[in-house]
Amino acid sequence: MSFKDLQLNRPILRAIAEAGYDSPTLVQEKTIPSVLHKKDVIVSYQTGTGKTAAFALPILQLLFDKQDASKKGKKIKALIISPTRELAVQINENFITYSTYTNLRTTVIFGGAAIEPQIDVLKKGVDILIATPGRLLDLHKQDIINLDYIETLVLDEADLMLDMGFIDDVKKIARLCPENKQTLLFSATIPYKVEQLANTILKAPERIEVAANSSTSKNVHQLLYYVPKPKKIELCLHLLRNTIKGNIIIFRRTKFGVDKLEKTLLKNGYKADSIHGDKSQNLRQEALDKFKKGDVNILIATDVAARGIDINNLDAVVNFDLPNVPETYVHRIGRTARAGNTGIAYSFCSADEKPYVQTIQQLIQLQIDVIDEHPYPLDPKAKKEIHKTPGKSKHKKGRKSEASKKKKKRWY
Ligand code: AMP
Repeated sequence: MSFKDLQLNRPILRAIAEAGYDSPTLVQEKTIPSVLHKKDVIVSYQTGTGKTAAFALPILQLLFDKQDASKKGKKIKALIISPTRELAVQINENFITYSTYTNLRTTVIFGGAAIEPQIDVLKKGVDILIATPGRLLDLHKQDIINLDYIETLVLDEADLMLDMGFIDDVKKIARLCPENKQTLLFSATIPYKVEQLANTILKAPERIEVAANSSTSKNVHQLLYYVPKPKKIELCLHLLRNTIKGNIIIFRRTKFGVDKLEKTLLKNGYKADSIHGDKSQNLRQEALDKFKKGDVNILIATDVAARGIDINNLDAVVNFDLPNVPETYVHRIGRTARAGNTGIAYSFCSADEKPYVQTIQQLIQLQIDVIDEHPYPLDPKAKKEIHKTPGKSKHKKGRKSEASKKKKKRWY
């Protein structure tokens, strides 16, 4: 199938050709016709398969005939809600690329950045708005944004949006838009809560599924290293010295872990930067730009900060910490071996993470190759760390020595 078969007009086709796209990806092939028919859709896709264009192209096509309004008279007709700032920026860049030969105007608003410049652009009039939920509601409350003319609402990365606690904001935004709007929901996974959200805000949606969420590319060589938790940094340094080459993303579960690893790698002379939720928007964007330009070749990230970000040409993904949600493993390693390239995914598993390996392997229906030959092997008998019952302070029971308790008695 070609883009022409998808009933896209000349200016859009020209922009797509200049972006170097020869033919639509599967998710585009399946989604674009439904969006053009003004249907509500729920799309589950694999990351990196071109889902942004799957909604951006038909939205531009639908708005194309209405683009003649003078700038000032422009009303926001398409609204794309994104859970993270980076993703919002990236979606905006895509819209700008695809709309090069139209008069449609696009802008992006997100929290953590000065509000005034965003207000200035909005006041000049835009057709398409990409926004994170909080900043959108804020500017709507200030009467800067009018949602009365929205024709298409897109909820991107809906599963992440709900994980990040945006459910009420998303429902509110949907209510603020006109009743007869078209709603498109994109989500890498469709857990129950996404299903519930879809039931409340979509009308007779068409379901589009592109590749099972459990599938991992055959081009990714997946390797598993059992290693004691305190030795993970050493193993990481060992592999960086001897084995892992090229552009690498290292995933850690916590912001603290990301910072700690970044410091160690910098101290050891590696060119690394990091992204996580506690970094300012500017710093996160700077880190991404440096990685994309090749100023650094190692990016350390938490899942939330990295989700959905378009980073191509990755040679390796390192799961420094294993994710407790198996789908996250699939997302992470899906970042390497894109577009037919090959890539390697290295996963470090400490004793307490062993159960995660099981659930991941169940999901991907594959045994990950275990590498035993490395300097920091995990004793197979090593026990899972015993976690304290949540809510019970480790200090409450048995904190005082017998002597001290006796003292206390005497003191009374
Ligand atoms: P996305 O899944 O939207 O983040 O897109 C992943 C990458 O695929 C981006 O770099 C897009 O520019 C690229 N892309 C999207 N559609 C196509 C296409 N039809 N042909 C080639 N590359 C594409």
